[in-house]
Amino acid sequence: MKLIMLGAPGSGKGTQAKKIVEYLKVPHISTGEIFRKNMRENTPLGIKVKDIISEGRLVPDDITIQIVHERLIEPDCKKGFVLDGFPRSLPQAVALDSLHKIDYVINLDVENEIVIARTTGRRTCKTCGTMFNIHEIGGEIVCAKCGGELYIRTDDTLEAVLERLEMYEEKTRPLVQYYAKQGKLVNINADNEPDKVYKAIIEAIKK
Ligand code: ADP
Ligand code: ZN
Repeated sequence: MKLIMLGAPGSGKGTQAKKIVEYLKVPHISTGEIFRKNMRENTPLGIKVKDIISEGRLVPDDITIQIVHERLIEPDCKKGFVLDGFPRSLPQAVALDSLHKIDYVINLDVENEIVIARTTGRRTCKTCGTMFNIHEIGGEIVCAKCGGELYIRTDDTLEAVLERLEMYEEKTRPLVQYYAKQGKLVNINADNEPDKVYKAIIEAIKK
């Protein structure tokens, strides 16, 4: 099965994608995680995208499309995949359509205030990428899963989050209509707890 996770920053795309890939046994492809890994390792790509990401802007389409294309031609993607954070613009969606037949687009619907609370309270594990929230873990500084160090993403500051929300409205929100027209859109209320959101997604894609 080939799925896309759509939604504002902090809507829970990454959290849900991680659970869905365990169920579907397909790879989880997060463009944000690919970029962050490159930033950590100071690769030419990482150096190129660092400032753009820290400011909450979008990486140019040509770069992003190329990276996703290269990833999706790897053999483990033959049986399907869950895309998290891609596509994020109309040109990206059109490029993806020309290469892959997507089954469903899961649209995680959530209010802006919740998005701001989630992202600005987020702590991410440097080692395994697992995300936590200070509302749950308080001042904890190590990952409960792997013991890695928790850090605040440079784009999880309030200023960058507001910019990301604006980018979402301008570039990404139009994709809701785009996929609705194709009959692929599954709307999910993502204000709920992660487990409830997950169950709603699985119900919808089982049909
Ligand atoms: P979130 O969904 O919480 O905003 P992501 O990890 O998906 O976080 O993305 C982090 C950042 O990486 C984005 O704000 C953007 O700068 C960059 N990025 C990720 N995916 C894309 C994409 N498809 N197109 C352009 N930029 C992207
Ligand atoms: Zn960890």
